[in-house]
Amino acid sequence: MMVSDCIDRNGVWSSEMIMDLVPKEIAAKIIGMHPPLNDESLDSVSWLGNSLPTNSLQFQSKMAPNSCCPRCGLEESILHSLRDCVFSRYVWMALSHSVSSSSFFNCSLEEWISSNLLNSSLAVGNVHWSLIFGIVVDAIWRCRNRLVFDRVMIDCVALCVEVSARSRCTTLAFRQLSNSVVHSENPNSSVIRWLPPDTDWVKLNTDGAVSQGNMVAGCGGVVRDHLGAFIFAYAKHVGFCSVTQAEFWGILHGLRLALQRGFLNVCLETNSASSVQLIQSGCNPPHSCAILVFQIRSLIPKLSTCIVLTSSMKLIMLLML
Ligand SMILES: [Zn+2]
Repeated sequence: MMVSDCIDRNGVWSSEMIMDLVPKEIAAKIIGMHPPLNDESLDSVSWLGNSLPTNSLQFQSKMAPNSCCPRCGLEESILHSLRDCVFSRYVWMALSHSVSSSSFFNCSLEEWISSNLLNSSLAVGNVHWSLIFGIVVDAIWRCRNRLVFDRVMIDCVALCVEVSARSRCTTLAFRQLSNSVVHSENPNSSVIRWLPPDTDWVKLNTDGAVSQGNMVAGCGGVVRDHLGAFIFAYAKHVGFCSVTQAEFWGILHGLRLALQRGFLNVCLETNSASSVQLIQSGCNPPHSCAILVFQIRSLIPKLSTCIVLTSSMKLIMLLML
């Protein structure tokens, strides 16, 4: 996703879209800035010079007793902290063999940042190197701060595991986000996203999932009002079951909790087409979901329930029961 995707045709921030993408306080900061001009120039990497408060910088400002690296005692410049310190060097080399055979450790700070953030050809597994690079820089700096401020030593292996997990999660989130955004040359195209229910209604979004490794299943959901304000959320382990069963568990728990809290107008949104179909038609034993479906169907007369089925965040069906 590009910054330009968050700017409308009038050159104004699409504030709702930004609010959907990042935490409120960050969205407020972005919206507070003027959007970049559409001069069709290529994106570029910017770096805020000596803004990282290393000991070297702080010592110059008389804010630190010395300029030494808290790990090795050498001068703690930005490059030393993020790349050249023996600790950081070990992390980089553990994450990618290619860094040792390149000019990775032999260039200026600006070259180092630019060349790695703009490197679109290198990947580790399914994750772009540019993403890993950004996450490692952040992780190394946080790790350094834990040592300085909390006296907590994080070893290289733990840091690499953290980076690996964050990289995978971020990649997955980007993929889901790109699937949820309609890219088209059509000027009438629009971004399809979570839509609020009508006034006096709440919307229940549910999901269920099963871990591929051990088949442990879980479900969860969130309930929001017609303004999009959070009301409550839930998450629950549901033992071992199929994905469809986990989806039904999510729906059943959500509807029960909504009813317990006195919400009678509930708009249920799920991405499970099979679940919606079975709730509509009902199903009998020996179907593995028969009891769950029965329980859900028995709750529905107690509620005004609207079911919205989403597929890749695209609204494809709306029905009233
Ligand atoms: Zn050092």
